[in-house]
Amino acid sequence: MDVSPLSALSPEELTRTLISFKSITPQDAGCLPFLQDILKGLGFAVILHEPKNPGGPKNLSAVYGTGQKTLVFLGHTDVVPEGDTTWEGFTPREENGFLFGRGVADMKGGIAAFIVTAAHFIQEYPSFPGKLVVLLTGDEEVGTPEGIQALLPWAPEYYGPFTACLVGEPSSINTLGDHIAIGHRGSLNLHIKAQGIQGHVANPEQARNPIPILLKYLQKITTYVWEPDPGDFAPSHLEITSIDVGNPVSNIIPEQAQAYANIRFHIQHSAQTVAQRLQDLATETSEHLSVETTANGEAFLCRDVSLIQIAESAVQEVLQVTPTRGTGGGTTDGRFISPYCPVIEIGMVSRTIHHKNECIPLADCSRLTQVYEAFLRNFFLRA
Ligand SMILES: [Zn+2]
Repeated sequence: MDVSPLSALSPEELTRTLISFKSITPQDAGCLPFLQDILKGLGFAVILHEPKNPGGPKNLSAVYGTGQKTLVFLGHTDVVPEGDTTWEGFTPREENGFLFGRGVADMKGGIAAFIVTAAHFIQEYPSFPGKLVVLLTGDEEVGTPEGIQALLPWAPEYYGPFTACLVGEPSSINTLGDHIAIGHRGSLNLHIKAQGIQGHVANPEQARNPIPILLKYLQKITTYVWEPDPGDFAPSHLEITSIDVGNPVSNIIPEQAQAYANIRFHIQHSAQTVAQRLQDLATETSEHLSVETTANGEAFLCRDVSLIQIAESAVQEVLQVTPTRGTGGGTTDGRFISPYCPVIEIGMVSRTIHHKNECIPLADCSRLTQVYEAFLRNFFLRA
């Protein structure tokens, strides 16, 4: 696309162009080098971080401006596959006022809105008091340590301490700006194994059936009453995702039964305390149970009231709606930045993310851009 003059960048056009990069996670397909060129054209100092291992994900970091106050925009250019061979998700399409394309909501539309915002803001206030930092990864959807985590703690040291982070993930639920995310629950995976002794069903005394042991534990963890959620937080919740025995016959007591589960936990827990609680429940259930836990991330919460107000008033000013705030939905890369600064998420409507025919109202491209512009003005010039 023609990127000059950059101040005339259109968020609709930029969103369409970003969709057309087939950046199925963790492939980049040229998306980050393309954004590198645009950001350079706007006057950012850009670093394209090449993968440590061949074929690994790329990351990008960029900065514009000087001064103490530093706003980070965080995003990802990778997307999930189309998931259906009849849908050409990487060919952007407009229909009935909607823009269709893989990643249009999650989250290439958010990135385009922010880049255009930066272009307008820099043109209008070239020496605004502060710094804009952009951190983009090509590895969020599956998410490995080579994604945004690879830029930490380097980025806050290199660019100076971060004041706040705006994540462009799709936070809106039904209409643009109806909801902003002020944190997310933590996430922990469980792999549960019950060990039995194989035998003939007619001689159960010579065997040990692992299935009742597993069921007893699953019953215990799904009915366990976790501490109530504190105020703003969604409640902790455990979901069983699979039960496997792999026994195709009815006359053998199997040797092993296993299950998978995931728990989303609120801010008063840590992955470690939750894992310990689940281990204790296993110990009191049976000595033949083992539980392996893998932490996917800690819970995080924005406690910076003025940052939340800046976000809310930007939405109100542009869209004339008062957003609800919450911590529901899946976690984001915001969890990795949250140890360094308060994090807030404002983005497109999430209703169709990861679905076939992912789409947003076309008008939301420029509406979200205006929200981000109001956010930057409130953040740098008024607060
Ligand atoms: Zn996303």
